Amino acid sequence: MKIYIDGNYYGKEDAKISVFDHGLLYGDGVFEGIRVYHRRVFKLKEHIQRLYYSAKAILLSIPMSEEAMCRAVVETCRANGLENGYIRLIVTRGAGSLGLSPDSCKSPSVIIIANEIQLYPREFYEKGMEIITAATARNLVNAVNPAIKSLNYLNNILAKIEANNAGCEEAIMLNSEGFVAECTGDNIFILHHGKIFTPPLASGALYGITRNTVIELAEEAGYEVEEKNLTRYDLFISEECFLTGSGAEIVPVVMIDKRVIGEGKPGSVTRQLEAKYRALTRVSGEPL
Ligand code: PMP
Repeated sequence: MKIYIDGNYYGKEDAKISVFDHGLLYGDGVFEGIRVYHRRVFKLKEHIQRLYYSAKAILLSIPMSEEAMCRAVVETCRANGLENGYIRLIVTRGAGSLGLSPDSCKSPSVIIIANEIQLYPREFYEKGMEIITAATARNLVNAVNPAIKSLNYLNNILAKIEANNAGCEEAIMLNSEGFVAECTGDNIFILHHGKIFTPPLASGALYGITRNTVIELAEEAGYEVEEKNLTRYDLFISEECFLTGSGAEIVPVVMIDKRVIGEGKPGSVTRQLEAKYRALTRVSGEPL
């Protein structure tokens, strides 16, 4: 494995950063998770743009252009002979002093790991998954806005632990008003009376690239999609529910807090969107 750090490649054992990096000390940095399908980087420009937006929001100046970053990602995939897989792109604040102030960090570090992907078990896609609602609320948009894909994922990890403790792999996170925001690593959609709903981004969700793609595919297929505040009740009475994310793609949900969703199996609209998404990943993306 060849890991890119600041313009050089290192083997897995030698790919190291400073213990004084504020990414490690404080979670001060940003990241992206990107998929490679059939030697094409899926939605690369969108991911790079979100990375730069996240960086801008935390006043982190990435020491290379977006175009150069795209090239570095593509080069790292090539160097690793990646045909299908997952790219983890990280920009840390860089090494500094033990104090909080980012002023002591003179140069951000760019890290690119291109590797295999750890998917959810196949069973989730075949039979649907069970999820719960976490007691841990999603970060406030006026605290650490969930739109920022920062290295500080503790909010999500706490909810993920709740999911795992309940024997599940995902958990719904509510915002401070009690509306559904998203899951720990995925956005959420429901189908109700033939219409598709997903929480608005202002509810406290990541601006999911898969979410965007799925909205486009659903509208192309003639479905009405509305971004609306949703409560747990709305989810419980939905006909279908599914999660979206670069890693998960589209995964059907068949049980929420022990309430059976629809007929307790993946619904036909979810299946239709899954097929459309899969077809898109076969033909689009930045070629390697
Ligand atoms: N929400 C959170 C909290 C995430 O970390 C992610 C990415 N894993 C998503 C949603 C899905 O975003 P995307 O479709 O851009 O991967």
